[in-house]
Amino acid sequence: MIEDRSWTEIDLDNFEYNLKQLTQFLPDNVSFMQIVKADAYGHGAFEIASHAIKNGAKYLGVANVEEGGLLRYQGITTPILVLSPSLVSEIPKLLEHKLTPTVSSYQFAEALNDATTDEINIHLNIDTGMGRSGFSMTDISNLETFPKTYDKLKIEGIFSHYASSENDTEFSWQQTEIFKRFLNKLSYKPKYIHIANSAAVITAKNDFCNLVRIGLLSYGIYCNEKIKKLVNLKPVMTFKTKIGQIKFAQAGDSIGYNRTFIASKDTKFAILPVGYADGYDYLLSNCGKVLVKDKICNIIGKVSMDMTAIDISEIENIAVGDEAILIGADRNEIRAENIVANYSGSAYELLCQIGRRAKRYYRNHGKIIASSPLLRRDFVSTDFSDSKLNSIIEAAMQERLQSKQVANIIYSEVLKKYFIEHDNDIHYRKNFNHTIYLEESEKFSEYYQVRTELSFNKKLRNDYITVACATTENKLEKYFMRNDVEYRWLLDENFALNEEYFRVCKVKINNLELEHKLLNNDNCIEIRCSHPDLKNLIGEEVDFSISTKTYYPKKAKQLSVYLIELTKGVEIKLVHHGILQNVEAVPIFSGRCKFPKISSNKDSISISSEKEWVFPTSGVVFVL
Ligand SMILES: *Cc1c(COP(=O)(O)O)cnc(C)c1O
Repeated sequence: MIEDRSWTEIDLDNFEYNLKQLTQFLPDNVSFMQIVKADAYGHGAFEIASHAIKNGAKYLGVANVEEGGLLRYQGITTPILVLSPSLVSEIPKLLEHKLTPTVSSYQFAEALNDATTDEINIHLNIDTGMGRSGFSMTDISNLETFPKTYDKLKIEGIFSHYASSENDTEFSWQQTEIFKRFLNKLSYKPKYIHIANSAAVITAKNDFCNLVRIGLLSYGIYCNEKIKKLVNLKPVMTFKTKIGQIKFAQAGDSIGYNRTFIASKDTKFAILPVGYADGYDYLLSNCGKVLVKDKICNIIGKVSMDMTAIDISEIENIAVGDEAILIGADRNEIRAENIVANYSGSAYELLCQIGRRAKRYYRNHGKIIASSPLLRRDFVSTDFSDSKLNSIIEAAMQERLQSKQVANIIYSEVLKKYFIEHDNDIHYRKNFNHTIYLEESEKFSEYYQVRTELSFNKKLRNDYITVACATTENKLEKYFMRNDVEYRWLLDENFALNEEYFRVCKVKINNLELEHKLLNNDNCIEIRCSHPDLKNLIGEEVDFSISTKTYYPKKAKQLSVYLIELTKGVEIKLVHHGILQNVEAVPIFSGRCKFPKISSNKDSISISSEKEWVFPTSGVVFVL
């Protein structure tokens, strides 16, 4: 159920149907270019391009580099011709996106030839009477030596464009003759020769070409009655809205701005929540038609920016929320070409401007298969400033992870810390391996004796590392922020902070065994571990291993191990030698792997997630 105020539906089945009708007119050796400029005449360039390619399009045509780049960004690899002359400033992007430029001047050819190191495909545009872009007939003499002069520009195609293919066959025939004469004189033959737009697919013979450029007709819009008789087409776009309010006017009341409509009798009318800001043309004021419940209703009064009134006096059983079709397939009166006839407008223009505020829904085989965002432009990161991008990333993560809290942690702990603030100086742990051995203690019966062995790989930051221990979480907390601290232990508060209760046994970096020095500091112990040779390893990825000996209270009933750094590949293991019977491991993992593998036997239990990234604030609670 569509809940929007207004929306467009793009019927891809109709689009494919139209392509089949049109390609029937093509001689065997002629293939087609799908014109998808201006977001495929407002139909959505990506979906239209994809379906055209599926139905045989060999090439795509866009208006400019921006449009072509967007299709590349969306994954389209089919050749794309930029139909309009490009600016010299657009050349880098043209090359980056591997778009085929149209060359219409020697000046541009030279700039392009200088800018590229590899050979690139181009199409030459010849103005045979259109009177728009392209080499003028007075300018063509140097085209004979073009391949020599611009040695990196490979002429893959030469094209021209008809001025009036839909209604002036005489002039089109003249353009054809001029084009043919030019081609015949030329000593080289490009792969593609093309001149026909969609009307000319039907009205002209295209036997001397091998490509045609199909636009308007594939969208199911007839350019005129003649075309209508020759081919059957179905409109692809439908523009719909919903009744926003129902009202009554008495004879003599005026409706809308400037009182251009005065009711001649009592009138029931409805307000539609669309106006010219939605692309519904202002010129449809007092002359547009809308389909409601299979009945044609007149636009009354002026189309305003966001609202339009229609006369619904003839319609019974109508309610707020009922659908109204502004443009579409269902009835002749609301086909785009007939709507524009009311104000001598252009169907091309109407299609391009429709639904600026509307979401677009694509239908294929009766189902909605995709939708486009409101702003009609898929996400392109270069559209945004850094700070805007950061907020987009944050919002996207919240959406994706379905949890604001986890998303915030990941965003601020991982992305911001590692990628945004630290300027790509990324530190993370690899192959994190932590094993905790619990044994009965001979000295303290209320405690387990604990040995821990920790190893991982990481870039070395300093020529020393620190291991920290405290008896309260508050005291230990400050060590989470310090990047020299590689290991932390929370000691039971009944113990004194000295080496009898917490001891670092061995710390190694690569093969260097570090010296340790114990410092007492504000109710914490810090063990500073260093080696003179470490300074040579700073910045290199090294193997860390740290082992400690301590005690853990039996009454605690659970033991938590946290990962406070971004980590790739984790194994955390508790070895209890069978002194515990029902140990359970409860992992709390954030990252792609939310449920690491848990394995246990009578002596030990471990969790592991090989090779996966695990985000900070992950960990495991062993329930003893
Ligand atoms: C837009 C365009 C077309 C497509 O024309 P339709 O009439 O929509 O088929 C073909 N060739 C060029 C150069 C164009 O600019």
